[in-house]
Amino acid sequence: MTVPRPGLPERVTIYEVGPRDGLQNEKSLVSAAVKAEFIERLAKAGLEWIETTSFVHPKWVPQLADASEVLASLGESARAHSRPVLVPNERGLDRAIESGVTSIAIFGSATETFAQRNLGRSVEESFEMFAPVVARAKDAGMWVRAYISMCFGDPWEGAVPIEQVVQVSSRLMELGADALSIGDTIGVGTAGHVAALIEALDAAGVRPDRVGVHFHDTYGQALANTLEALRNGVTVVDASTGGLGGCPYAKSATGNLATEDLVWALQGLGIETGVDLDALVSTSTWMAEQLGRPSPSRVVRALSGAS
Ligand code: MG
Repeated sequence: MTVPRPGLPERVTIYEVGPRDGLQNEKSLVSAAVKAEFIERLAKAGLEWIETTSFVHPKWVPQLADASEVLASLGESARAHSRPVLVPNERGLDRAIESGVTSIAIFGSATETFAQRNLGRSVEESFEMFAPVVARAKDAGMWVRAYISMCFGDPWEGAVPIEQVVQVSSRLMELGADALSIGDTIGVGTAGHVAALIEALDAAGVRPDRVGVHFHDTYGQALANTLEALRNGVTVVDASTGGLGGCPYAKSATGNLATEDLVWALQGLGIETGVDLDALVSTSTWMAEQLGRPSPSRVVRALSGAS
């Protein structure tokens, strides 16, 4: 049953991260052909924005070592603005340009410890690395998204001050990013914290229409946090079909918000997503077979009749 509520957007853009963030955090490797089929099935299910793969060095992300092959099998569709690829640095950007993609995502950190562990440099040094990547990408006419990890809590540093996230966000926007993705990498955020962060970003000139939210369901808060973000003007939500991808830094195997869980909640509110939930569930069921494990998404389990 659909029961709309005032104060929520009429339409939400789902930014699908399953093929990249999902698969890069799965233990099982799947072939380039399966990855390409996965992306094509997601697009057919109505997902417009799909992050397809990553040009992070295969030494760090062996699951996505076949990025070029995946993009080649996708053909012309991989060149759409709505098919970003993750790039860590200028070498990654070179590979993205060579492959013909027109959108990229870079990834920064709100905390020093995670910047050191994930990027091998300080937060300040990471801006030096990003500056030429963003400048060159913009010169090439690309759309640039900037992820920020550990925006709510950090496993080494604990709670992350809102002001720290605002500073990193503002710097990335100043570099020329078109959009941000605010990540709760270990899933510890709660609704009040979400609202306070979005308000603080807005007050600093980072408007909610430039902000996407990336919640993890580690503590079961991803949907509650999403609704709070929508109430505060955000209309872009990251999700991973089937809930693919745990997080190596979080305490449980539960990671990304499942796209099906998100679509179910939005459908109930009458919020348009363009997604065919049944097609998505059958895609997740198929992908779970490829990975040899069931989907952690409760909506997938309920709708697919799995126990
Ligand atoms: Mg994630």
